Amino acid sequence: MPRDFLKDVKDEYDVIVIGSGLGGLTAANVLGRNGHSVLLLEQHYKLGGLATWFKRPGGQVFDISLHGFPVGMIKSCRRYWTAEIAQRIVQLKRIRFDNPMFSLTTSYTREDFTRLLIERFGVEPQAVQQFFDTARGMNFYDDQTTTTRQLFERFFPGRRDVVRLLMEPIVYANGSTLEDPALTYGIVFSNFMSQGVFIFEGGTDRLIQLMHEELVRNGVDVRIRCGVERIVVERGRVAGVQLRGRTIKCRAVVSNANLKSTILQMAGPEHFDRRFLEEARAVRLNNSSTQVYMALREGDLIEESTGDLLFSSTAPEFRSDLLLSPNVTSRTFSFYYPRTRPHARQRCFVVSSTNARYEDWAGLAPAEYGASKRDLIETTLNALEKYVPRCRERIVHAEAATPLTFQHYTRHEAGASFGTKFEGLAVSRGLPEQVGGLYHAGSVGIIMSGWLGAINYGVIVANDVDSQLTKAAV
Ligand SMILES: Cc1cc2nc3c(=O)[nH]c(=O)nc-3n(C[C@H](O)[C@H](O)[C@H](O)COP(=O)(O)OP(=O)(O)OC[C@H]3O[C@@H](n4cnc5c(N)ncnc54)[C@H](O)[C@@H]3O)c2cc1C
Repeated sequence: MPRDFLKDVKDEYDVIVIGSGLGGLTAANVLGRNGHSVLLLEQHYKLGGLATWFKRPGGQVFDISLHGFPVGMIKSCRRYWTAEIAQRIVQLKRIRFDNPMFSLTTSYTREDFTRLLIERFGVEPQAVQQFFDTARGMNFYDDQTTTTRQLFERFFPGRRDVVRLLMEPIVYANGSTLEDPALTYGIVFSNFMSQGVFIFEGGTDRLIQLMHEELVRNGVDVRIRCGVERIVVERGRVAGVQLRGRTIKCRAVVSNANLKSTILQMAGPEHFDRRFLEEARAVRLNNSSTQVYMALREGDLIEESTGDLLFSSTAPEFRSDLLLSPNVTSRTFSFYYPRTRPHARQRCFVVSSTNARYEDWAGLAPAEYGASKRDLIETTLNALEKYVPRCRERIVHAEAATPLTFQHYTRHEAGASFGTKFEGLAVSRGLPEQVGGLYHAGSVGIIMSGWLGAINYGVIVANDVDSQLTKAAV
C-alpha cells in the first residue's frame, strides 16, 4: 500500500505553511512557539528548499547553497531558532578574488575592504568612508530610483576595478545587477560588510536536522511529499488548502512557494483585483544558476590557502551580462575543508557556481542538455586546475545542476535562485489585503532573499499572522 504522508493530520489548524525553505521553516517555528497550531507542508522528500543537500555513495555530502551569509544570521538563529544553531555559525577565513584586473585575499570585513581600497586601489579615504556610510544608511523607504551603477559612479567615477571588487560578491550573493535599485545593493552589502562572511559548521544537513527537531518541540506538524494543489478561498478569506484529495481547514496560510505561483496558480487569479494582478504578473523573477559539485578522494586535502570562497573570472572587465552568459567566464568556487563537517570523514569538496539564464537551458533537446552539462563540468575542471593542481586526477565525483534542476526540486518558476526582483516585495506584502489570511514569506525583492533575508522575512510574516490570529481571538 502506498504510504499516506497525511496520516493523522488534523482536519483543521490555525496556520498552514506551504513550503519548507528557510522562510517557511522560520515562520512555522515562530508561530508554533507562540502557541498556534501549525501544519508545515513540503512537496519535496526533504526539508530546506534551496537550503538543502544531497548525498552520494562513500560519505559524499554536497551542500546546495551553503556558500556564505552575513553575521546577522547568528542573532536571527539565536532568537528564532536555538542557541545551538547560532553557536555553530563560523566565519570564513579567506575570501579570494582572481581576475585580469586584480588578485587578492581578504577577510571581507569593512576594515579590510577599507584598507584594500585605500592602499591597493588608491581611492581617497574620505570617498571610501562616505561610500560605506551611505550604503549602511540605506533603508527600504529610501529613494528607489537610483541604480547601483549610479551609486558607484557617484563615489568611484570611472573605476571599473573598484566596481568589480564591490559588486562581484553581491551579484553572486543575490543575483542582482548594476541596474537594480541601489538600495538593494546597499542593504545586502552592508549586511555582509559588517563582519565578513559566515557559514554553518556541520553542513546544511545538520542545520536542517536541528531545525526540524526544534519545530517538533514547538508542536509543528511537519509533512514531506505533500505538495499543496490549491489554497481554498471563501468569501475573500483563506479557508484551507487542498492536497492529496483532502481539504485541511485553517485560518491563515503562509506560502513559502514562489510568489507568482502562489497567486496565479495555488490561490487563483479570480480572488485578486485587476490592478494587483497586473502588478503580480509584471513581477520579474531573479535569474538562476548552474553549479558543479565536485568531491576529492577521501584523505586528499586541498591547501587551505586556496581560500574558502574564490571569485574567479577570466573576463577582462566586470559586466552583468557576461556573468549570465552560457560561455562562462566567471565562476565562484566554494572550498569545503574537513572542518565544514568535523564529525564526518576527512574529505574536501568544491562547488563551482555561475549565474545563469533559464532560457539558455530550457530549450535544449535531451541530448544537447546532457552534452551541455558535460561541457560545463569539463570547462569547470579546466578552470579549477589553476587553483587545485591535478584536479582531474584527484576529483572522484563531479556532477552539474542547471536552472532546470532548481525548478524541478523547488518548483520555482524558471529555477529562480533568489526569488523575485525588487517589485515582488510590495506584491508579497500586499497579499493579505487582497485575500484575508493569505501571506507570503519567501525570497522576494533581493533584500528578503538569501539565507538571512529568507529567515528574517519568515519572522516578519509570522508576526503579522500572529497579530491577525490574536486579534481574531479577542
Ligand atoms: C545555487 C544556489 C546558491 C545559493 N547560495 C547562497 C548563499 O551562499 N548564501 C545565501 O544567503 N543564499 C544563497 N542562495 C539563496 C538561498 O538559498 C535562498 O534565497 C533561500 O534558501 C530561499 O529560501 P526561501 O524561504 O525563499 O524558500 P525556498 O528555498 O525557495 O523554498 C521554497 C520551498 O517551497 C516548496 N514548495 C513549492 N511549492 C510547493 C507546494 N505547492 N507545496 C508544498 N511545498 C512547496 C519547495 O519545494 C521549497 O522547499 C543560493 C541559492 C542557490 C540556488
